[in-house]
Amino acid sequence: TAEAAADAPWKLALGELAKPKEAAGRKVVIASVAPAVRVAIAESFGLAPGTTTPQQLVEALKLLGFDHVYDTLFAADLTIMEEGTELIHRLKEHLAQHPDHEEPLPMFTSCCPGWIGMMEKSYPDLIPYVSSCKSPQMMMGTVVKTYLADKKGLDPKDICMVSIMPCVRKQGEADRPWFEHTEGVRDVDHVITTAELGNILKERNINLPELAGVEFDHPLGDGSGGAVLFGTTGGVMEAALRTAYEVITGKPMERLNFTEVRGVDGIKEAAVTLTPAPGSELAELLKAKCEAKAEAKAGPIAWKGDACDNSINLRIAVANGLGNAKKLITKMQAGEAAYDFVEVMACPTGCVGGGGQPRSTDKQVTQKRQAALYNLDEKSTIRRSHENPAVQKLYEEYFDAPNSHKAHEMLHTHYVAGGVENE
Ligand code: SF4
Repeated sequence: TAEAAADAPWKLALGELAKPKEAAGRKVVIASVAPAVRVAIAESFGLAPGTTTPQQLVEALKLLGFDHVYDTLFAADLTIMEEGTELIHRLKEHLAQHPDHEEPLPMFTSCCPGWIGMMEKSYPDLIPYVSSCKSPQMMMGTVVKTYLADKKGLDPKDICMVSIMPCVRKQGEADRPWFEHTEGVRDVDHVITTAELGNILKERNINLPELAGVEFDHPLGDGSGGAVLFGTTGGVMEAALRTAYEVITGKPMERLNFTEVRGVDGIKEAAVTLTPAPGSELAELLKAKCEAKAEAKAGPIAWKGDACDNSINLRIAVANGLGNAKKLITKMQAGEAAYDFVEVMACPTGCVGGGGQPRSTDKQVTQKRQAALYNLDEKSTIRRSHENPAVQKLYEEYFDAPNSHKAHEMLHTHYVAGGVENE
């Protein structure tokens, strides 16, 4: 309806931008740009994916009137810190509770609202297995209206937070009732999709490919190569492994490109051997597990197969598209597959194939967008989330440590069996 169209989130965001900057009541309007947007926006100008730069996009958003443009990559790195720590915590608890057998955890990722909506409606029993981490969009909204507001001396009610997303489910996510700073002050106010932004830029004669480009604003404008990968299937898994591997083993992962979870297959599986750093809590738990196993199997002959190597065989799976997720869950429920960490993205090939991306007649377009993201990761000077200095600073100044009490209160969420109304 005309009324609904007037309330379209992109119109509300433009309405705020239309107010003169110095006018009383004009909010500080902030944008945060998701990974998959930066490679697909070029298509709105008839160009191939990835042929305009993220910096050109930042300049275009500034020309539209945004006061600050931040990078959702920052929040993706923050998500990895929280989710990686949660995985390690779950591994420890699991080892302590089940020292004598190989039960899978598993932990599911939580950053895709399409998956969360289906899980709540069709698989509410899985709720305890889903990471409690907010998505990068929602972590960014929280950080902007708390940490950033404090730093800049702004009242959160005077900030209008706009996410630029490849996704038609992100506004619904932002509108979940509990994602608010204080009554009436939402963490994320409006979501604009890639395709909508392309139309707005063209209508305003902002010719993205011709812009020189400017850098993202700080302190929420830095992101790692791992964070870039959030925009494609397997990316959250790959970024999480880069960090979890190093935190658990005390050594950097030898190869950064985890090809087993790359590409466009509907379901991908792999296993990673993690040998916890000597003396760490995980190493001690594994030692206890080995001793319990040896005791249980003690007999006259010691079999080589009983040898315990003090390592974790982390079984991982990645599903993209809800049909593939259902297939995977059915196999897991039937006991035909066992995993410890599972990534699910609702759209084919992940967010690069999101419903808010520009329409394309090119059948290979999502693979091209994916390749452009892999390229941005390769070009990044920092490729692991835990090495992002701005995220390290946020912990030093505000959250103390990943999964701290404060981080838990502010960066984690909950789910609702049966789903959320009107989503
Ligand atoms: Fe949104 Fe699709 Fe990405 Fe899920 S996979 S967050 S539904 S664009």
